[in-house]
Amino acid sequence: MKTWDVIIIGAGPAGLLAAGRAAELGSKVLILEKMRQEGRKLMITGKGRCNITNSAEIGEFITHVFPKGKFLRNAFSQYFSEDIISLLENYGLDVTLERGGRYFPTNNKAPEVLKAILKWINELGVEIYTDYQVEKLLVEDGSVIGVQANAKEFIAPNVIIATGGKSYPATGSTGDGYELARRVGHKIQKPIPALVPVETEGQIAKKLQGLNLKNVRAVIWVNGKKHGEAFGEMIFTHFGLSGPIILTLSRIMVTELQNGNKVEVSIDLKPALDEQKLDNRLIRDLNEHGKKRLANIFRQWLPASMIPVFIEELGLNPNKECHQVSSKERKQIRHLMKNFKLKVSHHRSFKEAIITAGGISTDEIRPKTMESKLVKGLYFAGEVIDLDAETGGYNLQIAYSTGWLAGNAIRIEK
Ligand SMILES: Cc1cc2nc3c(=O)[nH]c(=O)nc-3n(C[C@H](O)[C@H](O)[C@H](O)COP(=O)(O)OP(=O)(O)OC[C@H]3O[C@@H](n4cnc5c(N)ncnc54)[C@H](O)[C@@H]3O)c2cc1C
Repeated sequence: MKTWDVIIIGAGPAGLLAAGRAAELGSKVLILEKMRQEGRKLMITGKGRCNITNSAEIGEFITHVFPKGKFLRNAFSQYFSEDIISLLENYGLDVTLERGGRYFPTNNKAPEVLKAILKWINELGVEIYTDYQVEKLLVEDGSVIGVQANAKEFIAPNVIIATGGKSYPATGSTGDGYELARRVGHKIQKPIPALVPVETEGQIAKKLQGLNLKNVRAVIWVNGKKHGEAFGEMIFTHFGLSGPIILTLSRIMVTELQNGNKVEVSIDLKPALDEQKLDNRLIRDLNEHGKKRLANIFRQWLPASMIPVFIEELGLNPNKECHQVSSKERKQIRHLMKNFKLKVSHHRSFKEAIITAGGISTDEIRPKTMESKLVKGLYFAGEVIDLDAETGGYNLQIAYSTGWLAGNAIRIEK
């Protein structure tokens, strides 16, 4: 019967890096991948451009990781952003550093990242069986001895679970790893969608769908108390809100919604102006254009598609002339510009979540090797672990670093 030194479950970035490193050290490696093709998710990352990693130093990097970024200190000190970049460059991929420390392939093609990694592992003789879904871990006397996939047994003294999370299930990440680990005694922190758009009550978002706002501040209110804020870009959709700052803040919103709390987002459309400065600006514009209709002067203040929504919210007559606007009305306008509030009713599902929070508890994983503290020879890598990060290339780096570390731990006596 054919045997291997290590079997890796899942051919995402974590599994591929684990395979490459183990093979570099001389292991006979098999990857079992349930989809017909490797790296389905990797190919759609960064809107098809793949934000490969981030240039932040380790100390800063781990502040973008939740719930316990420190767990990764060791992994990052052994394999970090410069290592994945030099690997990709060695295999023919040019990379470009963009704003916010984000690295992208210079040709903006995510599939080329996958291609470079596959070239590396093919050269090292890693075997990949696609269309094989692992159903069960084989464990004897507290040590892993292999796996069962498509009702067949595959034997190896080491197994790395790199099955990803539950988000974008069409890419193959359907949460299988949680169940495999749970059945051998591992504790799973409840998986929840993260970096996910949210739905809002009422028709406002629908009326504004497609509107992209840049340089705004979004503030999250939970039961009337401020719970977080982010500055940057967001977008209105037919169901609610999305875009970078909303995805970042979704961490707070999903948790609070699941706890049954009242969640609201208020958008400061003029974050560069405090209330007084904004008021001065409104007074100046209203005075200068006394004969203009209110609906027209709003063009100087807001994107066109927002104007009817704004005027309706304020209950103002759009035909009113600027000189007729009372100071009370001006105050209301100013208030709405600084606090455009929407009530959040739900978060979207795993189907639309960029990442899964929760997963295999880090309490039961050795940070220096990614080995299970419960089952000898069993390792974890990537999103299946209870670690997730903000957008910016951080999540992929978690996958490469934990994958590399798990592969690095497989030492076979020949
Ligand atoms: C739309 C989108 C865009 C993203 N963009 C970025 C970005 O630009 N930068 C960034 O850093 N992160 C990004 N991410 C997150 C990033 O893609 C993931 O964090 C990363 O892919 C996780 O890697 P992984 O190897 O742990 O898991 P995955 O990439 O999910 O791979 C897991 C693999 O395991 C396989 N598998 C699952 N169960 C089994 C089983 N039972 N048997 C065999 N095989 C199995 C799956 O088919 C899959 O191929 C994005 C995510 C999404 C959804």
